[in-house]
Amino acid sequence: MRKRDKTLKASDVFNETTDRFGTRTNNFDEAYPSVDDVKIVVQQSLDGIRWSDPDTYGKFMVGEFFDCTVRNCYNGGFHIGQLLREMIRNREPECDVEKPCRGYEGSPKGKKRYGSCLNRYKINVKIKYKNQ
Ligand SMILES: [Zn+2]
Repeated sequence: MRKRDKTLKASDVFNETTDRFGTRTNNFDEAYPSVDDVKIVVQQSLDGIRWSDPDTYGKFMVGEFFDCTVRNCYNGGFHIGQLLREMIRNREPECDVEKPCRGYEGSPKGKKRYGSCLNRYKINVKIKYKNQ
């Protein structure tokens, strides 16, 4: 598939819009220096009843967003970076969240909007902090 035919996901939009401010880093240790290790388990569901098999991520696999797997979803995904920063600020060791996708079904560049994405995320985060 050519890149411009692809429906942009949350991390694509983020990467395209955030670069110039220079606030982004792909290095987890640099972004979250107080964290020793992290384990994130992600499940997705279109109806809130049947959930996908859990995907597990470690600290070298975590970006700013988990992208939505719904094909026509524009700017879809879960903002894991925001959740991590909140947890780290409060030094929370674990949290469970369930949230709808932030995206909407639309044309590949998001100009036409057909309706909210129905995808939901169930996320479990465990953080091990340094000096504990
Ligand atoms: Zn979505």
